Amino acid sequence: MALALPDNVVIAKLDELVSWCRKNSLWPMPFATACCGIELMGTGASRHDLARFGAEVFRFSPRQCDLLIVAGRVVMKMLPVLQRIWQQMHEPKWCISMGACASSGGVFDTYSVVQGIDRFIPVDMYVPGCPPRPEQLIQAIIDLQAKIQREGTMYGREFTQPERQRPSRALRP
Ligand code: SF4
Repeated sequence: MALALPDNVVIAKLDELVSWCRKNSLWPMPFATACCGIELMGTGASRHDLARFGAEVFRFSPRQCDLLIVAGRVVMKMLPVLQRIWQQMHEPKWCISMGACASSGGVFDTYSVVQGIDRFIPVDMYVPGCPPRPEQLIQAIIDLQAKIQREGTMYGREFTQPERQRPSRALRP
């Protein structure tokens, strides 16, 4: 016998509801070290209006953020700071690597520049380009939202996957 539900009742899995809330309320933590940071600022400005995607609340305290955006090259001296910020962010948290420098060191193939931040912290989305346009960062945020909706679980099972733990050189708390 079919169950008759009133019009104003919606049935969904709790995981999907939680993921829907999380993906639409990302709070970015900007870690802007170079020219890509300017594009990051442009993304937050009125022309591109990041608020359309619920991700405009930039915070400068890691304890209030769940999306780390690394924009620009990271040098080895800066790396402990980046890792400390990542550790201070509460789970669930995600990371976007913006630009060639953050993702691979870019043209700075030298001992003092980190050749990809994913060697030290887990990265969820990479934005190619030098510098990437704000539209590319917005696309990365949209893709991340789709990933959160697709894989997110209330208890964060997706964060215990081996690939998430891969950066073996990450600082241990
Ligand atoms: S990727 Fe290009 S624009 Fe971005 S920080 Fe590196 S040199 Fe600057």
